[in-house]
Amino acid sequence: MDLEQLIRDVPDFPKPGIVFKDITPLLANAKALSFAADTLAKSIDDDQKIDKVIGIESRGFILGPMIAERLNAGFIPVRKKGKLPFTVVSKTYQLEYGEDTLEIHTDAIQQGDRVLIHDDVLATGGTAQAVCELVNSCGGIIVGCNFIMELSFLNGRAKLPSELKALITY
Ligand code: 5GP
Repeated sequence: MDLEQLIRDVPDFPKPGIVFKDITPLLANAKALSFAADTLAKSIDDDQKIDKVIGIESRGFILGPMIAERLNAGFIPVRKKGKLPFTVVSKTYQLEYGEDTLEIHTDAIQQGDRVLIHDDVLATGGTAQAVCELVNSCGGIIVGCNFIMELSFLNGRAKLPSELKALITY
């Protein structure tokens, strides 16, 4: 199925000079939505039992739970600073301008849990790399990372574990 035709380029969003890849047309298409979740879930080998799927705020919260349900795994949200109600582990990471902080609940991952990380887009890789560090500090085992889209010219892949899948590569 051609998912690429369901990604819309929005120039100058959120800032002048940035071409934002908008996934909402893909999400609005029933067949594309379930195909995307099926394909990302099937990219994990049957013998690789996944305990937890992490979705990264906010667009990782859309396919993340769909993938978790297909893998018979739990869903764990990683959120921006100050959004999670219980005690958290935090990781601050560098953006192009400034920094950001991501958080996970201290009880979200048990020692030895096998974890799959999901987000909509892999760009520079800073976000997913910060989540990998959170998972490691909680004692989880990262089985892989997957994305709807990879902006390969930014080489985010170099910062992440080798088990990496994207449905669309630019
Ligand atoms: P990175 O940390 O890899 O540079 O950026 C990835 C994060 O930024 C992801 O959480 C993703 O949602 C967001 N992001 C960056 N560029 C885009 C884009 O063009 N489209 C969408 N949908 N998200 C983007």
